[in-house]
Amino acid sequence: MGHYYLDDDSQRDGAYEVHEDECLYISDSLNRTYLGCYSGMQEAIVKAQLLFPLKKIKGCVHCLHSVSAIQDDSMLLI
Ligand SMILES: [Zn+2]
Repeated sequence: MGHYYLDDDSQRDGAYEVHEDECLYISDSLNRTYLGCYSGMQEAIVKAQLLFPLKKIKGCVHCLHSVSAIQDDSMLLI
């Protein structure tokens, strides 16, 4: 399980990234929204999409390659 956050600022492609709390590329605490505690990035992305249906949401690539995401590896090799 990990804590996940959504960046309040979009990326250059217009998407908003979901990060795990230990990610080096996460926004500072004033520029992110806490999503909750989830077992994997995919779950956190689904939740973020429900909370912000008008935003384009994607997982941070650095988080996807972190140790805690490896359990969901099969889903992430898209
Ligand atoms: Zn990240």
